[in-house]
Amino acid sequence: MSGYACNLFRMMNTPVSVLILADQLLERHPALEHALAQTDPASIRVVMVESARRFARHAYHKQKVALLKSAMRHYADRLRAQGYTVDHRRAATMNDGLREHVAAHRPARLITMAASEVRGRAWQRDTLADVIGIPVDVIDNTQFLVGQFDPFPTAEPDKRIIMESFYRKMRQHFGVLIDKNEPVGGAWNFDKQNRQPYPKGHTAPPRITFAPDAITQAALSEADESGGFGEIDGFDLAVTHEQAAAALDDFITNRLVHFGAYEDAMTTRENLLYHSFLSAYVNIGLLEPMQMIRAAEAAYHAGTAPINSVEGFIRQVIGWREFMYWQYWRAMPQITHANAWDARRPMPAFFWTGDTDMNCLHHVIGRVRRDAYAHHIERLMVLANFSTLAGLTPMHVNDWFLIGFIDAYEWVMIPNVLGMGLNADGGQIATKPYIASAHYINKMSDYCKGCRFNPKQRAGADACPYNTLYWHFLITHEAALRANPRFGPAVLGLKAISAGERAQIQAQAAAFLDHLPPYSPP
Ligand code: FAD
Ligand code: SF4
Repeated sequence: MSGYACNLFRMMNTPVSVLILADQLLERHPALEHALAQTDPASIRVVMVESARRFARHAYHKQKVALLKSAMRHYADRLRAQGYTVDHRRAATMNDGLREHVAAHRPARLITMAASEVRGRAWQRDTLADVIGIPVDVIDNTQFLVGQFDPFPTAEPDKRIIMESFYRKMRQHFGVLIDKNEPVGGAWNFDKQNRQPYPKGHTAPPRITFAPDAITQAALSEADESGGFGEIDGFDLAVTHEQAAAALDDFITNRLVHFGAYEDAMTTRENLLYHSFLSAYVNIGLLEPMQMIRAAEAAYHAGTAPINSVEGFIRQVIGWREFMYWQYWRAMPQITHANAWDARRPMPAFFWTGDTDMNCLHHVIGRVRRDAYAHHIERLMVLANFSTLAGLTPMHVNDWFLIGFIDAYEWVMIPNVLGMGLNADGGQIATKPYIASAHYINKMSDYCKGCRFNPKQRAGADACPYNTLYWHFLITHEAALRANPRFGPAVLGLKAISAGERAQIQAQAAAFLDHLPPYSPP
């Protein structure tokens, strides 16, 4: 027998365990495929651990806890139905669960896919083998397209790379909406046709919903007892690959058509409008980014969705989503200390209750409580905008988003909240601070119509706090903002404000900020 055949023979009956993490529920899992290449299926045991400590790290939204638990349990059943042996256990900690697994089943080695977050990956690479006393193979993460192609492999960490260049390279490399090396539709960007306010009386088709089965019911009861944020009644999310695929199909068939036009619109009447509500699924592996991209592209070629919508959606997935993951790995860990605007105010209590006279915040926070979701512009231009203008401490804002949203994971929070939302990194990820007065919110929504504040006033008893804080921010940071070529022009507006009004704005903003009731945990 040759040495190679001998090795192969030895490996064929080697018991191997495959660790699958809660946000890695991929239909074709690379760690399983790696194990299958090494040993026979009967020698593979999949291990999944529901770690009590991990679920309790923050007071996560109850719906997120239920989604993760239910999706993990359905995934374990799916693998069992495919003939795999699955050890799905609950334990105090991940380490405890894996130690118990190794003691019970004595695998020769453990195979796992690299975590998408820094802390998890460091644990896999540096400590896990010592913890469980057997070798650990860490396989490359396949949940992101940048894992297959890095558009800027040699860029120094401090070199500013803008999303647009990243996006174009990604589309070219993966041949997405590309025809003979040119962008389909003759342009890379159709933003001018997008950004429309929502027409009066218009209603988008509601998203597909899924009735909880027995597994989900059990997960819902546990999540309800977790003491986490938000409400759990009416949970109707996808928890399997088939349901997530149906949710993708529902979006492509019913909402993609107007995704572009109303991408930035906000209304008191609806939460989702024409957005996809797919981030919760793709972030845990129930969908894959290329599956979403090709489905949208196919709709364009079939003539069921226009180019401005299809390009707009694809830009979010192959552009922003991949870009944020790529930036996360460049920016960590130093970005967690970033505080470019020296923001140090505690989170106001109304971020937990929605109990505020500011109608936009009242509605959006209410939705986060109810659905663990608000769409992108509400996250950016209502929640993060207020947080920047009010000078809320960046990592506290980050934690609030991490707690509140169904799709929140560190790799996506850090660049979106600290980078895009708060500009705490000084513009490394997004080139300008996304701050705006009530003018923007009033133009893009109907919130202001039902608000006790006046969106046109910047000082005085009825002035909208977004206005007072916006001008206060500009006055306070005038020099730094002037130096930013993308923001400089906005500062010119200060010229039209008299010294007296400036002083009034500053005093009113200070009084408003001093009276924000800080949150204290129950
Ligand atoms: P759609 O509007 O339908 O967009 C389609 C898909 O594009 C999304 O499903 C998502 O996968 C992807 N996408 C779009 N923009 C981004 C982006 N900036 N970063 C990453 N993916 C993107 N996204 C999360 O997945 N988790 C978060 O916790 C999260 N927090 C955010 C916090 C702030 C302050 C901001 C400004 C953005 C945040 N985003 C987050 C990005 C984006 O708002 C959400 O991905 C999107 O709103 C999810 O809803 P949807 O599936 O309906 O998205
Ligand atoms: Fe929000 Fe100001 Fe409009 Fe009220 S007036 S809804 S606080 S932007």
